[in-house]
Amino acid sequence: MARPRTTLTVQRTERLTPRLIRVYFGGPGFATFRPSEFTDSYVKFIFPRDGIDVLRTYTVRSIDPDAGELAVDFVYHGDEGIAGPWAASVRPGEIIDCFGPGGAYAPRADADWHLLAGDEAALPAIAAALEGMPADAAGLAFVEVAEPVDELELDKPTGIELTWLHRGTREPGEVLAEGVRAATWRDGQVQVFIHGEARSVMQDLRRYVRRDRGVRAEWAASISGYWRRGRTEEGFREWKAEFKAQDTETVPNR
Ligand SMILES: Cc1cc2nc3c(=O)[nH]c(=O)nc-3n(C[C@H](O)[C@H](O)[C@H](O)COP(=O)(O)OP(=O)(O)OC[C@H]3O[C@@H](n4cnc5c(N)ncnc54)[C@H](O)[C@@H]3O)c2cc1C
Repeated sequence: MARPRTTLTVQRTERLTPRLIRVYFGGPGFATFRPSEFTDSYVKFIFPRDGIDVLRTYTVRSIDPDAGELAVDFVYHGDEGIAGPWAASVRPGEIIDCFGPGGAYAPRADADWHLLAGDEAALPAIAAALEGMPADAAGLAFVEVAEPVDELELDKPTGIELTWLHRGTREPGEVLAEGVRAATWRDGQVQVFIHGEARSVMQDLRRYVRRDRGVRAEWAASISGYWRRGRTEEGFREWKAEFKAQDTETVPNR
């Protein structure tokens, strides 16, 4: 990822749902922030902790150049961690630095249909992708949230069928995997975007899409974990590297 560093000032926060907090960032540093063309554009916020910089990765949900603001939606997953609790307590005027943006995915106009799936952490990127699609785009979107109260109103093409899945007391990613596997596959070339809890996405859905459904790598490049249950972001990165080194079951790129 290109690593320009930007200093942003918190403008205000908004509780979108019990588990999702939107933070608006602006200030003088906003003028130096260079948006990316990708709908999964993300930044790495820098949290100084005990003399070291701890990085946390977040999607740029939207940018409003006229207001000089960008919005980021933080999952509030309890008191554990750094970024989630920070978003719950941050006040306007606070300053934070970030690296980025990076990004890799945008809906392709030559896809016959789109398959998007994810949990609350991927919801900002899915929402941005749906907003970035042409009005005649078609496909399926699945979002796993804890409860019905966590659903959001999303702007999307009418041809995209959106299904909310409720986790309840199940493990993260289980109902998402079931929902995607039960979906009726459409005709034509699909482009796939799936992110969320890492084990469910990488061990289950990635193999399902690539091996069982035979989707080639160029159309399924964006399937990976965004976080790992029971691990901090540093632990998740280690898990991901180990998984990739050992993964012999997903078909090789072709
Ligand atoms: C490209 C990319 C884009 C992302 N975009 C977003 C985004 O827009 N919004 C967003 O909220 N997250 C997003 N994430 C995920 C986010 O980076 C991780 O959830 C991160 O671990 C949160 O940091 P933390 O300091 O709150 O918790 P950490 O210190 O990393 O973890 C503390 C504990 O909380 C658990 N935990 C972490 N995340 C979650 C979660 N989502 N649900 C339940 N438990 C969790 C961990 O398993 C661990 O036990 C993105 C990740 C990537 C790779």
